[in-house]
Amino acid sequence: MAERIGVYPGTFDPLTLGHLDIIRRGARLVDRLVIGVTTNPSKEPMFSLEERLAMVRRETADAANVSVVEFNSLLMDFAEREGASLILRGLRAVADFEYEYQMAGMNQQLNDRIETVFLMADVSLQPIASRLVKEIARYGGAIDKFVPSAVVADVAAKLAGE
Ligand code: ADP
Repeated sequence: MAERIGVYPGTFDPLTLGHLDIIRRGARLVDRLVIGVTTNPSKEPMFSLEERLAMVRRETADAANVSVVEFNSLLMDFAEREGASLILRGLRAVADFEYEYQMAGMNQQLNDRIETVFLMADVSLQPIASRLVKEIARYGGAIDKFVPSAVVADVAAKLAGE
């Protein structure tokens, strides 16, 4: 049978424990999971694309069937290019729902051979959002409950250099 490939797209600015949980659980559903790190200039990321790629690669290095690539095209084109049959997204409570529902609907119209699959955020990781992690860190708050320890250091170094 053909290999089942999934793509997990995101900005990962920075990578959080919530993202890692979706990656770990998602990787069990497919033969290969390709994490797509978007350039997303509209979000004015704290970390450059290269820094985010390195961060996600470092934190997923022990996952044998996970790879990390950049993408700056239409998500459906990226998924098609990777030979994926599914797109993986994480869902936090109701906040993500409307946007994700709409995006999945439009993506289905673009290419109905690729399914969007949602994993419910782990209850304990549900409130974690990259945007809030950055905000908390900028005000000097502790972010070690929300991101891997090496990312705590990445954020501290970035803020020290700003
Ligand atoms: P995007 O710019 O595509 O929203 P993000 O890096 O913010 O990129 O998120 C990537 C994916 O991870 C999205 O599907 C998002 O809903 C999911 N996600 C983000 N934080 C969490 C979390 N704490 N738990 C589960 N899923 C999450």
